[in-house]
Amino acid sequence: MNKRIQKFLADNKPATPCLVIDLDVVRQNYRAMRRYLPKTEVFYAVKANPAPEVVRVLVEEGSGFDVASLPEIQLCLDLGASPERMSFGNTIKKERDIAYAYSRGIRLFAFDSEEELLKISSAAPGSMVYCRILVENEGAQWPLSRKFGCEPEMAADLLCQAREVGLVPHGVSFHVGSQQLDLSQWDVAMTRVVSLFMTLLERGVELQAIDLGGGLPAHYQEQIEELPAYAEAVMRSVIGHFGMRHPRLMIEPGRSMVGDSGVLQAEVVLVSRKSNDDCKRWVYLDAGRFNGLSETLGEAIAYNITTSRDGDETEPVILAGPTCDSVDVIYEKKEYRMPVGLRAGDLVYFNSCGAYAASVSSVNFNGFEAIKQYCI
Ligand SMILES: *Cc1c(COP(=O)(O)O)cnc(C)c1O
Repeated sequence: MNKRIQKFLADNKPATPCLVIDLDVVRQNYRAMRRYLPKTEVFYAVKANPAPEVVRVLVEEGSGFDVASLPEIQLCLDLGASPERMSFGNTIKKERDIAYAYSRGIRLFAFDSEEELLKISSAAPGSMVYCRILVENEGAQWPLSRKFGCEPEMAADLLCQAREVGLVPHGVSFHVGSQQLDLSQWDVAMTRVVSLFMTLLERGVELQAIDLGGGLPAHYQEQIEELPAYAEAVMRSVIGHFGMRHPRLMIEPGRSMVGDSGVLQAEVVLVSRKSNDDCKRWVYLDAGRFNGLSETLGEAIAYNITTSRDGDETEPVILAGPTCDSVDVIYEKKEYRMPVGLRAGDLVYFNSCGAYAASVSSVNFNGFEAIKQYCI
């Protein structure tokens, strides 16, 4: 476990469950992104962890922000982010929220449909827009399915229309799916992007930017390639298709910026078996699907877990949360082993839990509070 977090937990003994974020890790991740992808502008996807402390560090470092809602816009502006470095990247926005963003100086908006384009043209006249296209999410551990983006053919029509309605057709965006383990997926997307750029050029529209989205991974159970390998794959693809004089590049890391910065500490509430000869124990924790571990939905994200009894002999377990909902089982199919002596009161740590944990926690389902987050 991260040493600073370990020390914080030992010194302060905060009530469980809780999440501790090491801001130094966030800072290092930002700097690594700048170092390995110097030609890309970073727009941190705020939804991954909207803690003001996290946003403040990234404002200090000079990051831009990908925001999806009015409160996220207010949060970033209040902490000193500049509206020119913000992108309203949600393709589903209320017109009055677009108007608000515009009134606060934001001039960059995403869309993937005609209706959204028209909303932007009336509420944010003259702004820059980029169209999100559908791409395969093959290889992603948390795919984003077909909810966002449109087919490139339609994107071409809409980007032409953008100009007709007084907007600036700025570029194209995509998202290869979150926790994307297949480095070649950026090139699959880029193939679609380059042909869209060419189609539009033939129609007299010269796009300026490619938004590479998110998808870079954090460290969970599966082995991953490190940032330099991703950076190399992405830039090789960009240069392969566009040459050295490529368009403006934007990237919107969420998970990779904050995932490895956090540890979620939970407490064992009960260890039991379902029959006398049950070979798997059930370990019930005070954290689960509804208060911090939402990304274990479908057992998609497999966290590295440690316990206060590590070193003892281990046995397979089924892990579950504290609420009275059967969905609140954390891992049943995935093989997790825990110390044989584990019992109520012991502590369990979910590592690399800094993304999509606290912000996705329910408010008080079954009376269990939203998970508390400490930033150190
Ligand atoms: C959530 C989101 C991201 C961040 O994705 P990660 O895989 O967490 O890096 C980036 N861009 C947009 C538009 C998003 O909605």
